[in-house]
Amino acid sequence: MANIIPPKYVRQVLVTLQGRGYPAFLVGGCVRDMVLGVQPHDWDICTAALPEQILELFPGSRLTGGEQGTVTVRIHSHFVEVTPFRAESRYTDHRHPDLVQFVADLTADLSRRDFTINAMALSPDGIVSDPFGGAADLRRGVIRCVGEPERRFEEDALRMLRALRFSAKLGFSIDLFTMEAIREKAPLCAHLAAERVRDELEKILMSPAPETALEAVSLGLLDSFLHRRPPENVPEGLGELPRRELERWTGFAWLLEHYGCVASAESFLQTMRLDGRTVQLGAAAAGLMNEPLPEDAAGWKRCLRRCGIEASLCAARCADGFWQTGHAKELKSVLKSGECFSLRQLAVTGNDLIALGLQGRAVGEMLDFLLEYVIEYPENNRRELLLSLAAGTEE
Ligand code: ATP
Ligand code: MG
Repeated sequence: MANIIPPKYVRQVLVTLQGRGYPAFLVGGCVRDMVLGVQPHDWDICTAALPEQILELFPGSRLTGGEQGTVTVRIHSHFVEVTPFRAESRYTDHRHPDLVQFVADLTADLSRRDFTINAMALSPDGIVSDPFGGAADLRRGVIRCVGEPERRFEEDALRMLRALRFSAKLGFSIDLFTMEAIREKAPLCAHLAAERVRDELEKILMSPAPETALEAVSLGLLDSFLHRRPPENVPEGLGELPRRELERWTGFAWLLEHYGCVASAESFLQTMRLDGRTVQLGAAAAGLMNEPLPEDAAGWKRCLRRCGIEASLCAARCADGFWQTGHAKELKSVLKSGECFSLRQLAVTGNDLIALGLQGRAVGEMLDFLLEYVIEYPENNRRELLLSLAAGTEE
């Protein structure tokens, strides 16, 4: 930890709060990462100051966390989230606390956090508060709930997916009691908003252990999004896919479709509230993976014509990941060749055909014919030749 020092603007926020008599600490993910010796990607601060006191201390700051009281402080064109110590009670809907109370005590704030490794705080003078043994769990590589796991998952069912997320990201195991509670409380995930599930699932899919997403399925955490669970021992391969959101989501959705867990990859991506682009490209790519993929350049050009470059590349990369086929290389060499696969690249246009005397549907049909012809004979994408073909005057 000694060699990771928070940036100056973060230290300035801490010192300003402390200077006004409000104890303030770095907390959560950034402390975990510092103890691990990993550079944190953001810096969260918790403090005894109330939201209005934080707002008053830092001009230009805004209340962004609603009733949780989080204030986003703008300092030297950086943003830092500052949250008052809080305690939460009663979770009747298994996802939100009914009551949030601001408290004066750091330990109360740490005790509402999900896992021991996320429940450590660091004071501005470098003293770690670790009331639940987070540093020891980090050393042993264990994800363990703060407090009684069953109760913590009843409060917020998302924590079960978060446990899998941190185990996938850090390569940690899940403590035995925490795991037992996940098995028992899995059905509570049905109460979660699809967007929150999606965000955790995406982090799992993008982690070094994306197969953990299938473990989430086997544990029943995604039952409310599926018709049924896949058979045991689904052949894996998610880890062989490129580490990009589109390929990982497509590969996962395709596997679920393939094993009859969802009506289609497209419907699953939609239910997960993914953005329109991912749904469209993922659905097209999964569709391609259900057919025998092309074996020659002409086949790939037909694919490109029908589904576009991005979906075809995604399908080729997923196929390579799952079945080590070498499709992406073939497709890339087709793209590099610059050969025609779309009407835009064809050496004649609809207007050329109209000038030749073609009308109505005949124009579209002739364009289709010519495109199919140059896909097969790329060297013949020449204007004069295609015009003579269209006019029926070729030799
Ligand atoms: P990452 O590096 O992936 O952002 P993180 O630990 O910062 O990891 P966040 O989701 O950003 O994770 O949450 C910040 C902190 O807030 C966590 O470290 C944890 O202390 C607390 N926290 C977040 N979500 C929950 C939750 N659902 N229940 C309890 N505590 C939570
Ligand atoms: Mg974070």
